[in-house]
Amino acid sequence: MRPLYEMEIIQIDVTNACANSCSNCTRLIGHHRKPFFMGFDIFCNAVDSLADFPGIVGMIGGEPLLHPDFEKMAHYMARKLPDPKRRGLWSSIPKGNKYGSLIKEVFGTQYFNDHTVNTILHQPVLVAAEEVVKDKEEMWELIDHCWVQNMWSASITPKGAFFCEVAASFDMLFGGPGGWEVGPDWWKRGVDEFDEQKNRACPKCGCAIPLERRPSVDNIDDVSPVNLELLRRIRSPGVAKGRTQLYTGRRVESWSPHSNWYMDEVDDEMEYRKRISDRLDGQLGGGE
Ligand code: SF4
Ligand code: SF4
Repeated sequence: MRPLYEMEIIQIDVTNACANSCSNCTRLIGHHRKPFFMGFDIFCNAVDSLADFPGIVGMIGGEPLLHPDFEKMAHYMARKLPDPKRRGLWSSIPKGNKYGSLIKEVFGTQYFNDHTVNTILHQPVLVAAEEVVKDKEEMWELIDHCWVQNMWSASITPKGAFFCEVAASFDMLFGGPGGWEVGPDWWKRGVDEFDEQKNRACPKCGCAIPLERRPSVDNIDDVSPVNLELLRRIRSPGVAKGRTQLYTGRRVESWSPHSNWYMDEVDDEMEYRKRISDRLDGQLGGGE
């Protein structure tokens, strides 16, 4: 794991509403009974808290463009973060979105991912490490080298700040106690301050364990038995709709995660990104 001040990106999860239902979504989409939409004041406080963070501040979901205050939020980011490169947007650019021009104007860093193609592979996030790795020492060793925390982001949700974006999702779905208070220096925390959040989230999560991945387009979440029980307890709509499957895969031998690892099967990444970017161009000036 790495300290938060060494991260390149910290995310603000503005909503977990999404039009898609990709397999093994890191935001556990499909299991919430009701999506959240971050309040504008909370968003402003989150952006303010990251004013001195040297990296990118990302707006992410779910699908951030579904937030009713998206436009206000984008303008606030533009006011508070003068360097456009530090303003990030992660979106699947849903059809009919009306923000093409605004996105081009505000966000100097854009990650457009369409997960509804069968070449995007997602790690089985709901297969609990503690259920598939019997040796606890080995489990913590794997968790301490988790590629998500090492290569991706901490995040802020309406319930506070978290050392890892996936830990934040677990807290949101399973009614956790929330994260750290969002103040000016929260992102200066080191690894020795993660324990409480880490002990709660990581043993329930499958991201750090070498497991078989699944195409996002399957619309199925792999789950381990105890996590399935937890999902039933919160009356997950995903379980009710038969969108979960008990994990039958094995530990994999060769495993070499990198930040865009989920796209390894995409033949031509540039072409893939261009296709989604063209969708945005097609929406420039749309929405009248
Ligand atoms: S992975 Fe799929 S379901 Fe999850 S937030 Fe992204 S587009 Fe939505
Ligand atoms: S194991 Fe899961 S919750 Fe823990 S750091 Fe990795 S991705 Fe985050």
